[in-house]
Amino acid sequence: MAAEEMNLPKGELMKGKKGVVMGVANHNSIAWAIAAQLAAQGAELAFTYMDMMEKRVKPLGESIGVKVFCPCEVTDDASMEAAFKTIEEAFGTIDFVVHAIAFSEKNELKGSFVENTTRENFLRSMDISAFSFVDAARRASSLMPNGGSMITLTYLGAERVIPNYNVMGVAKAALEACTRYIARDLGPKGIRVNAISAGAIRTLSLAGISGGRSMVNQGRAWSPLREDTAPEGVAGCALWLLSDLGRSTTGEVVHVDAGFHIVGLPDELESGGAA
Ligand code: NAD
Repeated sequence: MAAEEMNLPKGELMKGKKGVVMGVANHNSIAWAIAAQLAAQGAELAFTYMDMMEKRVKPLGESIGVKVFCPCEVTDDASMEAAFKTIEEAFGTIDFVVHAIAFSEKNELKGSFVENTTRENFLRSMDISAFSFVDAARRASSLMPNGGSMITLTYLGAERVIPNYNVMGVAKAALEACTRYIARDLGPKGIRVNAISAGAIRTLSLAGISGGRSMVNQGRAWSPLREDTAPEGVAGCALWLLSDLGRSTTGEVVHVDAGFHIVGLPDELESGGAA
């Protein structure tokens, strides 16, 4: 969605703050909603993106005033190094990082986890979806002499078994643990580190999961709010965590999923037969 169509609150909560958004692929990306919200509150942004996404990412970024674009393949040390060097040259120091990156082979995001998971894809999923946050946090923290805030994006499949989410659930569990360990290490430097556990949202990543559409539909049907998770809601939580409003919160996993994660049984079963 275009930034103006999202009806994001404008203000100055991020005025004077500079940071990096990693993971915009197109206008459906969660990172895009977050970036648009941060820009609407006065943040100065750099985007890192995968080379093949350049045609989509640049016009989006430019529409909200982004001037720094860095191609970045997170599995490649030289590419990460070059991206953070560009960011340092452009901004000197930074105040925040948004990490919204994940990947696993589509053909392992279906069916039996125990039967379908290969060593190669297990390690690759962990590398891209969990280690990349550790690597980005280390590089970014050296550009944060005045403290700062970092967020990553996770999903309920880290805590509970979600059909077909498989190795991504394991990678998200690692990502959430990484969030706590990074928070502990960087806390003394005044850097807060948190994760947002978003409900299912229609994006490129979700399309790679077998039954992704039913994750969205079930989320809407079961959640206390009876609605889809709004990218704007995730962006609002990101704004809280990345601005000074989020002071004193670190090492946390905040659910933004219309309340889906609190439900043990769907309503239809409440009156359905004998206990
Ligand atoms: P998306 O496809 O728009 O974003 C995923 C991003 O990861 C893309 O920009 C892609 O280019 C990037 N990426 C993948 N491999 C990479 C690599 N090797 N190097 C650099 N970048 C790489 O989808 P999204 O749903 O917006 O995903 C963003 C984050 O939100 C992911 O961590 C995802 O797991 C998480 N999340 C998504 C949902 C959902 O339902 N869509 C729910 C909870 C959490």
